Amino acid sequence: MASCYSPSVGDRLESLDTPSMIVDLDLMEANIKKLMDSLLPTGLNIRPHLKTTKSAILARKLVAAGAKGGCVAKLSEAEAMTSAGFDDLLITCEIIGAPKVNRLVDLYKKHRNIRIVVDSEAGATAINNALGQAPKVSDDPIHVLLDLDVGLHRTGAKPGEPVLALARHVRTLKNLRLIGIQGYEGHLQHLHDREDRKKRCLESMKTLTDTADVLRKEGFNIDVVTTGGTGTAEFCATVPGVTELQPGSFIFMDTDYRNAIGTLYSNSLTILSTVISKQGERQVTIDSGLKSLTTDSGLAECQNSRYEYGCLGDEHGSLNWEEGTPELRIGDRVHMIPSHIDPTINLHDVYYAHRKGVIEEIWPVDTRGKVQ
Ligand code: PLP
Ligand code: MN
Repeated sequence: MASCYSPSVGDRLESLDTPSMIVDLDLMEANIKKLMDSLLPTGLNIRPHLKTTKSAILARKLVAAGAKGGCVAKLSEAEAMTSAGFDDLLITCEIIGAPKVNRLVDLYKKHRNIRIVVDSEAGATAINNALGQAPKVSDDPIHVLLDLDVGLHRTGAKPGEPVLALARHVRTLKNLRLIGIQGYEGHLQHLHDREDRKKRCLESMKTLTDTADVLRKEGFNIDVVTTGGTGTAEFCATVPGVTELQPGSFIFMDTDYRNAIGTLYSNSLTILSTVISKQGERQVTIDSGLKSLTTDSGLAECQNSRYEYGCLGDEHGSLNWEEGTPELRIGDRVHMIPSHIDPTINLHDVYYAHRKGVIEEIWPVDTRGKVQ
């Protein structure tokens, strides 16, 4: 028999089972407003990275607030987003290998708004050939951006001759239309020293915009110059030649970003957890471990900072406190702040969004598990 547990809009958070992923709508909306108020006046396109929210509903909320489209990291995320009704998407990872390229062609047949990046001649050629064999799409070239390595050394053609050679190659491919360049400075997002982050970001932006200029001089069409994350968007926005920004984490934040860039944006998402066992005078166990909170960027923190979290494996975590702190008891509930927001959200099926403790909206995590 199906469970009778079915949380609904209008219920209070107390009615939720745990662990549950909780969004404070007042805080989330304030984060969106802050970002839009600071960046929209620059005239740049805001194309938020949806690898954070994984939600078409939230993508539409961001568009309502002024964003133009969104980014996804992977092709399978694009498939899920389009199925959920949002298709103005840039896929920011390279699409390599016949299975993925064929999936791209299928997706592009239905969704002509999809944009992609390439960083190799082989990758571009494979996509061009696959599109050429698809009867309906072969006369409608897919919009492509050159992915440039601006210092992250993750993907991207190298500046100078390599990226020019790639552009020349793309020009020979009739099913690809070059529209711009992407250069993501992911290695700088979490630098704690703001001046250092700014200085190195501006260096990366110089590489990006200089490359765009060189490409234009050679006659290439570079309308879109896209870059930036939560830690650097404000600096990228000051650089003439940048046209589009891709911040993602600002909407919810996490402890890693808070420690790096401060509290301009607040932690609007928590994992509601329950104390399930008492293990000592000043230690309890909660029902949130690796399966509900990631640890790659350090441990999550209890919203009430008097309780210190420790991971106790897949399903469990500990909370310890100093003498004099009110004790936690079996059945008590705590809010845990994730240390790395994107992979933490990937562990949950739904968001419960509340205002002052009353659930106002429930959103599916549309691209959960879409790692391909
Ligand atoms: N753009 C690209 C290509 C990314 O990989 C990421 C995050 O990893 C972002 C933008 C968004 O960055 P953040 O979530 O740090 O704002
Ligand atoms: Mn991340």
